[in-house]
Amino acid sequence: SRSGFCKENSTFYSKRNPISLPASPSLDVTTFISCQIHRGITAFIDATTGQRLSFSDLWRAVDRVAEWLYSEVGLRRGDVILILSPNSFYIPIVCLAVMSLGAVVTTANTLSTAGEISKQIADSKPTLAFTTAQLAHKLPAGISIVLTEEEHVEPTGGVRVVGVLFEMMKKEPSGQRVRDRVNQEDTAVMLYSSGTTGASKGVISSHRNLTSYTRPDKNRFVPDLKTFEISFIYMTNIQLKLMELGLICTVPMFHTFGLLMFAMATVAIGLTVVILRRFELNDLLAAVEKYRATALILAPPVLVVMTNEADIIKEKCDLSSLKKVTCGGAPLSKEVTEGFLKKYPTVHVLQAYALTESNGGGAYMDMVDSRRYGTVGTLTPDVEARIVDPNTGRLLGTNQTGELWLKGPSISKGYFKNQEATSETFNLEGWLKTGDLCNIDDDGFLYVVDRLKELIKYIGYQVAPAELEALLITHRDILDAAVIPFPDKEAGQYPMAYVTRKLGSNLSEKQVIDFISKQVAPYKKIRKVAFINSIPKTASGKILRKDLIKLPSSKL
Ligand code: AMP
Repeated sequence: SRSGFCKENSTFYSKRNPISLPASPSLDVTTFISCQIHRGITAFIDATTGQRLSFSDLWRAVDRVAEWLYSEVGLRRGDVILILSPNSFYIPIVCLAVMSLGAVVTTANTLSTAGEISKQIADSKPTLAFTTAQLAHKLPAGISIVLTEEEHVEPTGGVRVVGVLFEMMKKEPSGQRVRDRVNQEDTAVMLYSSGTTGASKGVISSHRNLTSYTRPDKNRFVPDLKTFEISFIYMTNIQLKLMELGLICTVPMFHTFGLLMFAMATVAIGLTVVILRRFELNDLLAAVEKYRATALILAPPVLVVMTNEADIIKEKCDLSSLKKVTCGGAPLSKEVTEGFLKKYPTVHVLQAYALTESNGGGAYMDMVDSRRYGTVGTLTPDVEARIVDPNTGRLLGTNQTGELWLKGPSISKGYFKNQEATSETFNLEGWLKTGDLCNIDDDGFLYVVDRLKELIKYIGYQVAPAELEALLITHRDILDAAVIPFPDKEAGQYPMAYVTRKLGSNLSEKQVIDFISKQVAPYKKIRKVAFINSIPKTASGKILRKDLIKLPSSKL
C-alpha cells in the first residue's frame, strides 16, 4: 500500500490521492495554470482601492505584458526579472507573463536594505526590475525598471524607468509574439533562502515543480468546496457570487508561500483573492468583515495578538464568516492554539509546513484533524518522507525524532550557482534535507520538534546567522561573533549575538545593536548581545551554535 509507513525502505508516503502531471515535457506553468478551472469571475480585489481584476482581464494583462517583454525588452528564455513590490495584483500578472516566456522570476523582500538587494542582484543578474516609485531608491543605479503603480511618480536614485505597467496593459496586442519553447525542467522562479547554513541563495524552482504545486487540490483552499462542486452543475448567479467568497492574501508575495498560493494556485483554481498591500491587523479584520472571508492564512504571532485583543476586536468587527485559519512558516504552539480557540471557538486552526526549497511540498492539515494540536498535518500529495538520525544517518521509524527528508515532484533541484550548498542539502537520489527535526506518528501525522539548521525565524521571516556574523566581524572592536535564535513569545524568535571583543575594547551591547541595525532589514536586527571570551567551535572551525543555545544567557 502507498499509504502510511512502509517498513521495507523506511519511507513514508502521502496518504492523499496522487496528482497526475502533464506528460508533455515542454509545457510552461503559465499555460498550465491558464488551462485549469477558473470558475470564479473576479480573480483579485485590491482591499485598499476596491479595484477588481477579473480572470479575463488578468489573462489579457498577462498576454500584453509578455508581449511587451518579448518585443520591447527582448526578454528570452533563462533571463531573470526581479520583482520588488508590496502585495498587489501586478505581481501575479508579471509573474505569469515572465514564466510564459521561459524567463525567471526572482523577488526581494520589500523590507530589505539597498545593500541586501544589491547582493541579490549581483547574484541573480536581472534584466529588469518591476517596482514602485516608493521602493525604487533601494535598487542600484543603472538598473532598468518598470513602475507597477497607477500614480506615476518619478522615482529618485539612478534607476531608469523603461515602462509603466498599467499603460502597457492597455495596449492592443499585435499577436506577433513567437514564443520560445519552454521545457518543464527549465527554471521558472528563483526565491532566496538561506537553507540549512550560510547566506541567502537562489532556490531553483522548475516549471515542473510549480506545475505539481499548482495542480488544483481543492480541499486545500476551501473546506466546503465539495459542496460547491456538486452545485456547480446547477450554478446560478447567486451561486456564482458565493463562489467569489475568497481568501484574503495576508502573506507577502515575495515569499514562497504567498507567491505560489496567490500568484499561481488560487488563479488555477479560480478563487477570488482579496489583496492587502501590507499586513495591518485592523485592515485585515475590516476586510474579513467586508468580504465575508471564510479562510485566512496567518503567521503564528498574529494569533497571539488576535487572542490578546479578542474582546476589542469582537466589539469592532463581525468575524462570523471566518471558518478556518491556517498557520505556516514557523512553529505554532499548543498554548497559542488553545488560547485562540477559547476566544474564537467556531474557527478551525490548521497548520501547514513547507520550505522555499520544497515549493509547497511538505504537509498540511485537513479540517477534520483540527483538534490534533501540535501536528502540521499529513504529507502533501506525491511527497515521500524519511526521518533520518542526524548523527548516524540511520533511517528511523514512526514516533522517532530525526531530520526530515523530503522527495517529490515539487522539490527543487538545488541552489543557483552554488554546487557546494546544493550537494549539502540535496542528495543524489533527490532527497531534500530540510534541517528540521521531526517525527511522524502511526497515523502519518508530521510533528516539527525543533530546528536543526542555523536558520532563525523572526515572525515568518528568514534571518541567516551567517550573514549577521559576517557583518559583526567587520566591526573594528569585534574579534569573533556567533548569532543564535533567542526565544520570544510574539515573534517566535529573534537574533541574539555572542561577541568576543578585541583586547582592550569596551564595546557595549547598544553599540553592537546599532552597528547592525544600520545595515540590515528591521526584522534581522540583533536585539540581544552577550560577550564571551571565545566562540566555541569544532576542530574544523564550525561554530557550535547548540552549545551557545544551551548557555543561561541564551534563555528567557
Ligand atoms: P521558508 O523557506 O522561509 O518557508 O522557511 C522554511 C522553514 O520554516 C522550515 O524549514 C521550518 O523550519 C519553518 N517552518 C515552516 N512551517 C512550519 C511549521 N508549520 N511549523 C514549524 N516550523 C515551520
